[in-house]
Amino acid sequence: MTNPARPNASDLDCLPFPARDTLPLVLTAGNAPLIYSSRGCNCRCEFCSVHKFYRSSGNGQWRGRSPKNVVDEMEEIANQFGIEEFAFADEQFMGHGRTGVDRALGIAEELLKRRLAFHWYVETRSSDVSLPVFAKLRKSGLRAVFMGLESGYIAGLMREGLELRERAEHARQQEIELGKKRQEVADLGRQIELEEKKVRDLDLWVNNWVRAQQIREFTLTLENLWKKQAVDLSADAPKGQQIIWMRQQADRLDPILPSPPSILDRKAELSRW
Ligand code: SF4
Repeated sequence: MTNPARPNASDLDCLPFPARDTLPLVLTAGNAPLIYSSRGCNCRCEFCSVHKFYRSSGNGQWRGRSPKNVVDEMEEIANQFGIEEFAFADEQFMGHGRTGVDRALGIAEELLKRRLAFHWYVETRSSDVSLPVFAKLRKSGLRAVFMGLESGYIAGLMREGLELRERAEHARQQEIELGKKRQEVADLGRQIELEEKKVRDLDLWVNNWVRAQQIREFTLTLENLWKKQAVDLSADAPKGQQIIWMRQQADRLDPILPSPPSILDRKAELSRW
């Protein structure tokens, strides 16, 4: 006589936690307590009995316990036995698709929320490994992942690795382009600064040259006036010396002629004291 298979429980949170009366023996042997946080597997690997076993009951789909329920059990074991290391024995801890990922992240969040510094290990398929998700799981204590790589899904991992490398290369190229652009802008800034200085210098030259012509014209007018007044303009006479001095000032301003010496040339000496 063969009884029909009993239907699989769909709500795993309804099930009581397993008895742990033999756990001290497990711990003495150096092993971590096993926890089942899910049941079943949606895949159909040829060599595996898991999917055949669960499907024999009709409802063989993957089912996961809620994050709260899983972490409640971990916390209870930790409080009772003083341990901080757990091994998940699920056939497929990550479940399948978004539901499985959200549940795994939910377990991580629950552990972090309760500040439980546990280390834990899982088994999963390589096709369900995603670096961003596993980086978050690691923060909550995931320390080892056991995967079968023979299924061919390693290609998924390799693809992800290649994509990451491509993104890193893209970022590197962008950084190089940015660097070139920054250098171009800096060179342009320096060239503009140089040009502006040349324009300022030219303005100064022209202004000084015009001013020198004005001083010479004024000096000549004054000289003619003094001559008419019969003022002594010989080189030794005060007015004569003044005319010479005024012409020297015009020459000092004129950018085309050499600058005659002046006491003003020593002005810089004052700042050194
Ligand atoms: S993924 Fe793992 S548990 Fe699922 S059928 Fe394949 S070997 Fe079995």
